[in-house]
Parts: sequence; C-alpha cells; structure tokens
Amino acid sequence: MNSFTLNNNILHAENVGLNQIALEFGTPCYVYSKAALTLAFERFSAGFIGSDHLVCFAVKSNPSLAILNLFAKLGAGFDIVSGGELARVLAAGGDPKKIVFSGVGKTAVEMQAALDAGIFCFNVESASELTRLNKVAAEMGKVAPVSLRVNPNVDAKTHPYISTGLKNNKFGVAYEDALSIYLQAAAMSNIAIHGVDCHIGSQITELSPFLDALDRVLLLVDALQQHGIEIQHIDAGGGIGICYSNETPPEFKVYAEAMRAKLGERKVRLVFEPGRALVGNAGVLLTKVEYLKHTEAKNFAIVDAAMNDLMRPALYDAYHDIKAVQTRLKDDVTPTLTYEIVGPVCESGDFLGHDRNLALAEGDLLAIMSAGAYGMSMASNYNTRPRAAEVMVDDGVCHLIRPREVIADLFALEKVLP
Ligand SMILES: *Cc1c(COP(=O)(O)O)cnc(C)c1O
Repeated sequence: MNSFTLNNNILHAENVGLNQIALEFGTPCYVYSKAALTLAFERFSAGFIGSDHLVCFAVKSNPSLAILNLFAKLGAGFDIVSGGELARVLAAGGDPKKIVFSGVGKTAVEMQAALDAGIFCFNVESASELTRLNKVAAEMGKVAPVSLRVNPNVDAKTHPYISTGLKNNKFGVAYEDALSIYLQAAAMSNIAIHGVDCHIGSQITELSPFLDALDRVLLLVDALQQHGIEIQHIDAGGGIGICYSNETPPEFKVYAEAMRAKLGERKVRLVFEPGRALVGNAGVLLTKVEYLKHTEAKNFAIVDAAMNDLMRPALYDAYHDIKAVQTRLKDDVTPTLTYEIVGPVCESGDFLGHDRNLALAEGDLLAIMSAGAYGMSMASNYNTRPRAAEVMVDDGVCHLIRPREVIADLFALEKVLP
C-alpha cells in the first residue's frame, strides 16, 4: 500500500498534505503513516494465520517508541541487538516473552538484563558466547533459552554490506560446526535449547535465498533430532526487501506459503525478524531546498537534510526516490534540470540522490521516499546537526513522536578541562 499519494497536486501522508506538516513541524522531518505501518504488519502476519508463528519486528530498523508501541499493540514480538534496544522495547510496552536477542557481541551486562526481563530466546552467535551465557545464567540461578544462529552459506544476492549469510561474514556459526556446538549446549546446565536461527541479509528481493537457507536449517533440525535434541522453533530471520525504485521483492503471501510448505509435517513454530519490510515504505523524509547552485558540470540542489539524517545513500550508495511535495502547474516556467540532491554536510559523500530530473526552486519541499527503515535509526549529530523531528500521521491527526533536537542539548554533557 502506498500511503503517500498526490492529491490536488500536493503529496500527502494519508490525508494530510506534507506541506502542512512542514509548516507545522519544520524540516527536515521524518513522517510516518500509522495506516501503512499497521497494514504492513497485518499483511506480513496474515500469511501465517493458522500456523504457530511469531513476528519479531527488528528494532534496529526503526526504534521509535511510538512505532514499537504500535507494533506491540498489534501483537508483535521484537528482535533486539543490544541492551539499549531491550530497554526501549520494555519502555514501549513490548512483551519480554516475545523478544529474541541477536548480535555477535552481547556483553554479560546485556545478558543479565535480558535474563532478568525473561526474554523468549537468545540467538547465540558463537561457542564463546554460549559459554559466557551459561555462566551468567548460572550466577543468576536462571536457565537461558537459546537458538544457535547458523550461517547457511547461501548468497542473499544483495549489497555486500547487508549480506550476512556467507561463510566470510562475522555473523552466526559455520553450518559445519553447528551440530557440535548444539551438543556442547545440550550438556550445559543453564542453557535450554529452543530453536535454530538464521538471518542471511537485508533487502533481499528474491525468494530462493530464503528457501535455500530454510532447507539447510531443516537438515540441521533433523540431524539434531537424531541426537535427541528437539527443536521447538525455527527463526528464519528478516531481510525481505522493499521496492525503492523498480525492485520486485517477493510478496508476503508468496513468501509465507513457500516457507510453510517447506516445513511439511514438522510441528515447529516459525519466528521471523522483519524490519525494513514493515517500516521502509511507511515513512518519508521531508526536506526543503535551501539553495540551487549551477556549476559547469552539475546542477546542485542543496537541501536541509543530509547524510547525518539519512545515511543510506552515503553508506551503501542506496537509491531513494525523491519527489516534489508540490507538483508544478502546466504553465509554470521553472526548468526541469538534472540535479544532484545534496545536504549541507562537509563531505563529498553527502548526497541523497544523483541525477534527478526535477523542476526546482529555492524553498521547494521534497520528500525522500521509502525512508522509514534505517533512516532515523542511523541518524547522527555529525556536523553538530540536531536530529530531525519525527511525526506520525494517524487518520488526519499529526502526532509529534519526537521533537527536533535542541542544539544546546547536543553538547550539554560535555566538559572543558578545569
Ligand atoms: C537487521 C536484522 C534484521 C532485520 O533485517 P531487515 O532487512 O530490516 O528485515 C533481522 N534479524 C537480524 C539478526 C538482523 O541483524
């Protein structure tokens, strides 16, 4: 569903003009649609109705309390990667019994917090981590529920920085080592084996890598059974891609049917960790053109959002569609030119889009589309820029879910030497 559509020549979020939102809350500003978030979650879950499943939203894709709270109310669980994300989920009303904890570098303090909260499962990524978790749990007189994150060694056919299921990635344990580590785990007094986990990458737009990975995981599940280890759930990770320009990621329904079919008669619960697929297309970054600058080689549109607000273009050379908030009328004489859309940050890598054909004037508003995932969550204060405001539209009402940061706060914790 697209919740950002033109209406009377103005781009809207649901039924609110983005120009109104810019007027009220300023720019740069992230704008989310509650309807789009809700629909994405419900569509993803719909494919698994009638089978035991748990959809754990990957918090790192967008950790806004308002978004976590919305998903919690819809029944979601959460995939966390730090103690900070655990605290956020709990603050947002998330159910600890629906939390899976991923990540290669969990500290003892993070393990304690998660054991205290009583999370659903630790996705353990190394033999050393398993040993540490067993020790931490023993000290607390608890038993830690675990899955081992296995590396199925399938090519997710995505950008190398967001591909995680190959042998040379830092994630998970090698497929060949998994059985022996499970046997070690089975012998540990404060570890309870619950599942098998894998996550092969992000922005995956084909079905086959998911199915290949699940095949490998199922082989392992069967091998474990032969060694007397019963697996209660399979965590298939996240990674379903979204459409940024012309990609055609698998539809949720097709994905769900194919994954369920693979399971056959096995009585295991399916766990998923989608991030981008639930939030990516439910948010835009609203920005204003500050200056137009025409050089011999290029036309630049310098906007008030930058790489610190949306890092994906600079980090992965990622493409985001960029739309004018107000469509120019037919008799308007503003020329359409090919623009570099860039921010004010002092880095040549600070761009939001290359070679965009737009008819622009200074003061125009632009919407950077599909910015709901890995946008605000990766934002920084580079160049001492306050992070953007965040607004959620809910049926005609705009809620400021995070005010724009105040400059004085950015260095309030800092001290000069006496
Ligand atoms: C990032 C991540 C996800 C979410 O990935 P998406 O591509 O946003 O769906 C899920 N699980 C793990 C372990 C991750 O690191």
